[in-house]
Amino acid sequence: MAVQEASYLSIKAELDQANVTLIAVSKTKPNEDIEALYQLGQRAFGENYVQELVDKQASLPKDIQWHFIGHLQSNKVKYIAPFVHLIHAVDSLKLLTEINKQAQKSGRVISCLLQMHIATEETKFGMDATELEEALVASIHLPFISIKGLMGMASFSDNQDQIRNEFKLLHKHFNNLQMKQGAPFNILSMGMSGDYKMAIEEGSTMVRIGSLLFGARNYESK
Ligand SMILES: *Cc1c(COP(=O)(O)O)cnc(C)c1O
Repeated sequence: MAVQEASYLSIKAELDQANVTLIAVSKTKPNEDIEALYQLGQRAFGENYVQELVDKQASLPKDIQWHFIGHLQSNKVKYIAPFVHLIHAVDSLKLLTEINKQAQKSGRVISCLLQMHIATEETKFGMDATELEEALVASIHLPFISIKGLMGMASFSDNQDQIRNEFKLLHKHFNNLQMKQGAPFNILSMGMSGDYKMAIEEGSTMVRIGSLLFGARNYESK
């Protein structure tokens, strides 16, 4: 089996020590792999594709907390609204408004993170500082969402200084917003397999780790 059980246990211990939450990113991986980590105690899993998440949620244990970490299209919110635990990458007010609407229909409040654009690449999604402020102001009138913090992705780069600076920038914005928003705004989702240690040094409270736990992804086989 491709699941790296020894890696899981050592990463989990390392994160517990640092008080950081581990999201096991299981996109493209079969249910058996998720069950293997579930047996070891993992409950928080992250997925990027709506249909894949809906299928997995239906067939796996109901006490799994499902995190949607990918780019979410407004017209697909309705499929995950009944059960999703946290939506990490909210990148527009339009999406936030749709999540509020679908949360109300499902009779629940959905926790969200706002995605901030920190990478130099044009292709990565996310809001700038002004858009973040606007979304937070507008959210006062969206009672079925709860904004719990920020999420960001560093540039895909070998330049460690650049990645560190992007994490520092995100952490700075997070601290500033937390002063205004107060205690419920307490999640900073940053760091993946390749950069999670640095992300923690720079103030991450939640890391999203896939390949270190499940082995490399094979997109062709999907
Ligand atoms: C796939 C993915 C991850 C996990 O990536 P790894 O490098 O395999 O740890 C984390 N965050 C997001 C948003 C992803 O899409």
